[in-house]
Amino acid sequence: MTEAKLREEICYFGKSLFDRGLTPGSSGNISARVDGGWLMTPTNSCLGRLDPATLSKVDDQGNPISGDKPTKEAFLHMSMYAERPAAGAIVHLHSTHSVAVSVLADTDPDQPIPPITAYYVMKIGKLALVPYYAPGDPTLANAVKEVAGRHHAVLLANHGPVVAGKDLETAVYATEELEETAKLYLMLRGEKLKILSLERVNELHRKYPS
Ligand SMILES: [Zn+2]
Repeated sequence: MTEAKLREEICYFGKSLFDRGLTPGSSGNISARVDGGWLMTPTNSCLGRLDPATLSKVDDQGNPISGDKPTKEAFLHMSMYAERPAAGAIVHLHSTHSVAVSVLADTDPDQPIPPITAYYVMKIGKLALVPYYAPGDPTLANAVKEVAGRHHAVLLANHGPVVAGKDLETAVYATEELEETAKLYLMLRGEKLKILSLERVNELHRKYPS
């Protein structure tokens, strides 16, 4: 894909996510790999009103090259890319239901959301929960780095999900799957659940490795 097309795609998906209420105000950010670095959504930008011409471009060290100043949460993206060299794009949202799950006092850090549907297992696999740190705290970058090699989807406690994919479309769809599964899980809280067995989960991982 050309850089021009990728710039358009970032704006298209940003608007689509914003229009459906998946990340309010100026929250959330998107990045995608290009030759020699990354494109990122600018700081304080609303994902619903991105301009392909002013997206931030940073080099492979994260230093700005052109466009508006990159998102303050660029470090989250850089930490994830450092551990996932095959990732082509990352989406970070403040999506309501995923945030809600991250706030529950009894959320299991080893399995914040149980395997309730096949598509959740196929697109997210094993979600990691990273403890709360204030935005900008360098400890948060290290905490993400620690789990990113084993998990392409990470839920930041009291904050939101960070999801990597081989390309932008894959990362967006996986983030949406996570949000919808979080919604389902919250609807089902207090009910007796028939979650997928370990055998079924392993079968899906074998058939559809992420
Ligand atoms: Zn955030």
